[in-house]
Amino acid sequence: MHTNYRALATPGVQGLQPYQPGKPIDELARELGLDPAAIVKLASNENPLGPSKKALAAVSAAAADLCRYPDGNGFNLKQKLAGRYGLSSGQITLGNGSNDILELAARAFVSCDDEVVYSQHAFAVYPIVTQALGARHVKVKARDWGHDLEAMAEAVTDRTRLVFVANPNNPTGTLAGKSEVKRFLQRVPETVIVVLDEAYCEYMVGDDMPNGVEFLADHPNLIVARTFSKAWGLAALRVGYALSSVELADVLNRVRQPFNVDALALAAASAVLDDEHYLELSREVNRLGIQQLEAGFDELGLSWIPSQGNFVAVDVGRPALAIYEALLREGIIVRPVAAYEMPDHLRVSVGLEHENARCLLALKRVLGN
Ligand SMILES: *Cc1c(COP(=O)(O)O)cnc(C)c1O
Repeated sequence: MHTNYRALATPGVQGLQPYQPGKPIDELARELGLDPAAIVKLASNENPLGPSKKALAAVSAAAADLCRYPDGNGFNLKQKLAGRYGLSSGQITLGNGSNDILELAARAFVSCDDEVVYSQHAFAVYPIVTQALGARHVKVKARDWGHDLEAMAEAVTDRTRLVFVANPNNPTGTLAGKSEVKRFLQRVPETVIVVLDEAYCEYMVGDDMPNGVEFLADHPNLIVARTFSKAWGLAALRVGYALSSVELADVLNRVRQPFNVDALALAAASAVLDDEHYLELSREVNRLGIQQLEAGFDELGLSWIPSQGNFVAVDVGRPALAIYEALLREGIIVRPVAAYEMPDHLRVSVGLEHENARCLLALKRVLGN
């Protein structure tokens, strides 16, 4: 007798498709028999600068206490975040990456057969957490690749428990403006939880950019999710956080594991918040890199989606999977996004200038134009 364990899993889990991460450098190096140093990875929206020196020093110092459990309440980090945003520590929930926050929010508020609203082309984790809970997917058609917040507000019913909004969105880089977000929050009933995922907010360029923190006072149903993985350069350590009303933070803190953020991660995140120079440099390198990629795509005659993130989705004018694979053979890792209903696009993360240049050159060779 063979037991089919997948059939024993909950109905939601049986239908799960695992998240597809960017291909790791070492994996491609093994496959191609290449030196990892010869490979350019622009596939996971990582910070190309390397980590902040202050974060590295804090990790070294914290390593002396590896035998101890971390501070389960993250006192220091919460104090710093509270000071930075003018909130109280009680409004903060720390997460093992902001992915953890997204999952905590869903686990806390969504049951089987409830509805979760999110946008077409939105971050893959929203459908995954929805599916895992056996909840109903309400995927709202995008407008010009971005979230149609009007339609998303209209899609809310009395079965809706949670709405995910990525702003800026990954993998499209699209942004809903401040007044649009404001109107959306005003329309969604207070009994529906809104998760505003601002993983890329530090990269936004322009006047009067939307900032979830400003909406917290008027919207006790709002969870603003942020991360140290992108502009703050700590993706390996897995630290994110939620900003919300005290009431919502209390619920999220009941669901999370007691030591969900480890001691090295807490130390590094606290330290990097004192490294404003690192953040400024990250933003500047990104701004220039976005321009470089856009100009390069223009030269190749490719259209792209204007991005407020640290990546650009480019339309290669044909099924992109073959182009992705050809780029791998050139030692360049980017991200195919067919699973986001974007079969002709590739998502290219911003790298250092020479990395962007190598990617554009390889793309030119592969496309033969
Ligand atoms: C990268 C990303 C996150 C954060 O990931 P963590 O590393 O878990 O903090 C969250 N939301 C979106 C839209 C992202 O692209």
